[in-house]
Amino acid sequence: MPGNEQSLLQRTTDFPAGQPVIQLAGISLRYSQSAAHIQALADINLELSGDDFVCVLGPSGCGKSSLLNIIAGFLQPTTGTITVDGNIHSKPDPQVGVVFQHPNLFPWLSIEKNIEFGLKMKQVGKEQRKELVAHYLQLVGLDGFAKLLPFQLSGGMKQRAAIARTLATDPRMILLDEPFSALDAFTRETMQKNLYDIWHKTRKCLLFITHDVDEALLLAKRIIIMQPNPGRIVNDFPNPLLRRPEQAFSRLRSAKEFNDMRQFLIGQIHS
Ligand code: ADP
Ligand code: MG
Repeated sequence: MPGNEQSLLQRTTDFPAGQPVIQLAGISLRYSQSAAHIQALADINLELSGDDFVCVLGPSGCGKSSLLNIIAGFLQPTTGTITVDGNIHSKPDPQVGVVFQHPNLFPWLSIEKNIEFGLKMKQVGKEQRKELVAHYLQLVGLDGFAKLLPFQLSGGMKQRAAIARTLATDPRMILLDEPFSALDAFTRETMQKNLYDIWHKTRKCLLFITHDVDEALLLAKRIIIMQPNPGRIVNDFPNPLLRRPEQAFSRLRSAKEFNDMRQFLIGQIHS
């Protein structure tokens, strides 16, 4: 492991963990591209803290991606404001990293150069770039694959590279829009474990969108439920099953509490 693990992992600890990173107040969104208007989001109020791992759970069409695109600064809300560390946030900003469903790596750059790209943009010096790239490759389990091009990696490995690239720039929070939904079940579970371990080590604020109830229960520290027409938050609570890193997924899945929570969440989504 190059450098000092603590100093690399805790580059954002100038901010106390429980302090709000991002605040959304009165967010609504109306798509008006055709004669028919769609009220995609209504009255969203939300506050995320430095060490939150929030899963936003809801059926297709309830506005999850619209919400993520607004927080990322890709879309302007019709009403409402967003602040990051107290400053108005209205356009894409390096403080808010995004991991998409399909990893959008630069196909002509090696994995290490992909991770290094954002650090160059941030004008991080060469030596530190090298150290950070090696550190994040190791964190996502891709050390040994640094020189390969994206097409030489499996889907799961590409997604890990995309996560490493986002983490390396040390954003205040990371948005993930169904990042594992295109992966096969086995790879998805490996990725879920990997992401949870990363969160446990870095305590980075993560907003993770999913329509998979099990995924939310296995990963989240906090669960937010959305319903459609218009897209809105109907519940927001700490995950009572928050897992310790050493606890096996299979153990948790087979527990009665897990099944009870699953039924509860399915009921909430479809009520
Ligand atoms: P989810 O991610 O939960 O599936 P979306 O945010 O993609 O939901 O969509 C919420 C609603 O907004 C849906 O009714 C969808 O059809 C509509 N919608 C999404 N994107 C657009 C767009 N660019 N133009 C018009 N309507 C859109
Ligand atoms: Mg979506």
